[in-house]
Amino acid sequence: MLGASEELVFRESVFAWLRAKTLATPYLTRDDLSHFPWQGREVRLLGPQTGIWKIAGLSDAAIAFSTSFVPDGKHRPYEDGFGPDGLLRYKWRGTDPNHSDNRALRRAMERGLPLVYFVGVGYRPGTQTQWFNAEFPVFLVAEERTAHQFAVAHEIEQKPIVDLADSAALEIAKRYNERVVKVRHHQPEFRGRVISAYESRCAVCRLPFAELLDAAHIRPDAEGGSARVSNGMSLCKIHHGAYDTEILGISPDLTVHIRQSVLETFDGPTLQHALKEMDGQELRQVPSMKSCQPDRDLLAERFEKFRAAS
Ligand SMILES: [Zn+2]
Repeated sequence: MLGASEELVFRESVFAWLRAKTLATPYLTRDDLSHFPWQGREVRLLGPQTGIWKIAGLSDAAIAFSTSFVPDGKHRPYEDGFGPDGLLRYKWRGTDPNHSDNRALRRAMERGLPLVYFVGVGYRPGTQTQWFNAEFPVFLVAEERTAHQFAVAHEIEQKPIVDLADSAALEIAKRYNERVVKVRHHQPEFRGRVISAYESRCAVCRLPFAELLDAAHIRPDAEGGSARVSNGMSLCKIHHGAYDTEILGISPDLTVHIRQSVLETFDGPTLQHALKEMDGQELRQVPSMKSCQPDRDLLAERFEKFRAAS
């Protein structure tokens, strides 16, 4: 077993390895996560099937927990949710507080150890193998035994609120926690789900590098746009920028339109190939699953803005 300080070094090494790995490939399979090099051997960071993972022989505390990918509109198996304080909740495995997985999570909480939260965002293109986005470090900051769950913090400053009668404190904590959860959990999850649904390609030009792709909102987040995949499109940096500035529009029949003033400009190969030649083309990459395809009404609403701008 690792000593207390060795344990922290081990966890920092895991985070450094994940950081380096996800620069090259943002999403990882369980197999990718079974090769963490540690003292001359390979260590698994997530079990072959289970949601909660502790490395036998190294620690009594969990290193990671995970949520499986569920497509939009399908029932989530464990219904992890949020508490009144805005913190994320993670369900126990089953209902037995003494199940070894639940004990391993509790030990991580008691020892204040940082963990990794692996969130399933889709499938590796052409396979049924799950892709996970890694959120780290995260901390377990409270346990709610009657509800069979832990409260998860993405920053050590995030506090659970125990006294629900203190409405002022609850409101302040909730606002803060919701902001952190949005940036550290909701936005990366949306990005992962959209990019996976488009098989890691740009909808307009099919550029196949996930690290150069964004999940563009059709109805913007700030205007109440939902986090469903059908309110998003996977776009490369150039096409995302062009879409958000109304240089590029996409009509409800999935045709790309380029602003007239841009079509009349002559200035080099990027403009020519990346923008002007896309005019009148159909989207080249669209999710195969109907529920993930861009919502036609939302596209129409957004296309009006493009029309008005050109
Ligand atoms: Zn593109």
